[in-house]
Amino acid sequence: MALLDRTIVRFLPAMPRQVVRRIADRYIAGEELEDAVAAVTWLNADGRSATIDVLGEEVERPFEAREIVEAYDRALGAIEEHELDANVSIKPTAFGLKLGYKLCRRNVETLVRAAAERDNFVRIDMEDSSTTDDTLRLYRELRGAGLDNVGIVLQARLRRTLDDIAALADLRPNVRICKGIYVERWRIAHTDFDEIRGSFVRCLEALCETASFVGIATHDEFLVAEGRRIATERYEFQMLLGVRESLGDELVRAGERLRIYVPFGRRWYEYSLRRLQENPRIAGYVAADTVGRMLGRNGSR
Ligand SMILES: Cc1cc2nc3c(=O)[nH]c(=O)nc-3n(C[C@H](O)[C@H](O)[C@H](O)COP(=O)(O)OP(=O)(O)OC[C@H]3O[C@@H](n4cnc5c(N)ncnc54)[C@H](O)[C@@H]3O)c2cc1C
Repeated sequence: MALLDRTIVRFLPAMPRQVVRRIADRYIAGEELEDAVAAVTWLNADGRSATIDVLGEEVERPFEAREIVEAYDRALGAIEEHELDANVSIKPTAFGLKLGYKLCRRNVETLVRAAAERDNFVRIDMEDSSTTDDTLRLYRELRGAGLDNVGIVLQARLRRTLDDIAALADLRPNVRICKGIYVERWRIAHTDFDEIRGSFVRCLEALCETASFVGIATHDEFLVAEGRRIATERYEFQMLLGVRESLGDELVRAGERLRIYVPFGRRWYEYSLRRLQENPRIAGYVAADTVGRMLGRNGSR
């Protein structure tokens, strides 16, 4: 399977954009804010809340980071105007982290304050391990500035995460725990499937002790079951748009809170390609899912 995944990924850039778009379509709300609003309206009607992600990462110039802040500000405005049950998720590199920590901090703080004025919440996604320290520092500084409407993401894949949970405990943080999408070196990350699962469970147990709220972000049935066993209050499940919808249905039917991650924007091509290149396993899922749909099966949803 690993070879097949890598082969799919190698040929993706050679595929016509429309083909990549067809593959990505199900995982992205569309190119415009109104597409995201339509998707979230539908999700809300279906008993799910949402978190909106404006596509774009690793900006190269400060004005691009500024444009992302403005795009998020419009998303917050639309959430308020349409009375949606949604918050936003942001990527530090899209806010200028690779151009300088201070620039990123200024941009993120501007957005978190704008969200606070609208009584909304900003989740800072966790990117690859080169950004972990800065992202944790950013979270701590924002909380230190009195901003409580902000949360962070921790990745069970990283060996450091239990220590990070302990270090954050004084803040009573609002944390999304996920496996982590970026492929990292063995030295700093668990690479074995069961080890990552085990780490997820230990991190979740620790967070239930120390966090003010936990987002359990997974489509792994085993971890969903563990989440339901371990978490008793101040938690929700989180899933990606278009992934394992039948598992999400089960959770909602069982009375669990479920939030769907809804990416939108014109940079869908770069986003899709990078996501797939970063983790060829995802390409395998997507290919299996696409073939399954062509054959009329929906087992992997
Ligand atoms: C709401 C949310 C937010 C996230 N935020 C971050 C973040 O900030 N930083 C970060 O590093 N990672 C993030 N992730 C990604 C996460 O770390 C994992 O890479 C991803 O969720 C797959 O792990 P899994 O727990 O679902 O388990 P897996 O074992 O990888 O997946 C379980 C099953 O779900 C299906 N599946 C999973 N992903 C996909 C997909 N993309 N397409 C089709 N089928 C799929 C497959 O059928 C697979 O067998 C987020 C995930 C979610 C759900």
